[in-house]
Amino acid sequence: MISFKGKKVIIFDLDYTIVKLRADWHKLRNALRDRFFEVYGEKCEFKSMSSCLSKIVEKEDWEELDIFFDLIRQYELENIEDTVPILETVFFIEQKELFGVSDDTKLAILSLNTRKTILKSLAIAGIRDKIHLIIGREDVRKWKPEPEGLLIIQNYFKVNKEEVIFLGDSDTDIQAGKNAGIDAFYIEELIKLVNKRR
Ligand SMILES: [Mg+2]
Repeated sequence: MISFKGKKVIIFDLDYTIVKLRADWHKLRNALRDRFFEVYGEKCEFKSMSSCLSKIVEKEDWEELDIFFDLIRQYELENIEDTVPILETVFFIEQKELFGVSDDTKLAILSLNTRKTILKSLAIAGIRDKIHLIIGREDVRKWKPEPEGLLIIQNYFKVNKEEVIFLGDSDTDIQAGKNAGIDAFYIEELIKLVNKRR
């Protein structure tokens, strides 16, 4: 059962948690794959975009990493105007006190999307001013399900792990929570909760 009792920081994933992005992920993956081959003459295993970026981190090729971030940003922003807010999550963020969340609880985003995509998405959903900290694709070097992003947020707000809760839509999100020792729930559970009270 999801509970916000004693939670001082609530962290959200972005895509399929707060909004639905409409980027052409297939096209983006192809662009990254092509670029990787062009630069390194080797193939990048495409289990996930993060696994490909991790290879660049291994090579400590920070300039190339920036080029990859640029590519991701470019494809994410291409269809940004078609972004669809998830109404239940937006309602929760706007009315969090209705759900037993105290007024001074901080809200943060931990997403694999680029910062600009996150900012634009939050603006489209009308909740930009409700979010206190954003950790995007460019802000970590080990991506979910690695715990780095969650720990950065925990340290930023100087709270204990027990005072943090993370909400996301994917198994990767839940695994990141486990790896960080932070409670993580599927957003579906929050959506059910909101629909009961709305
Ligand atoms: Mg997601």
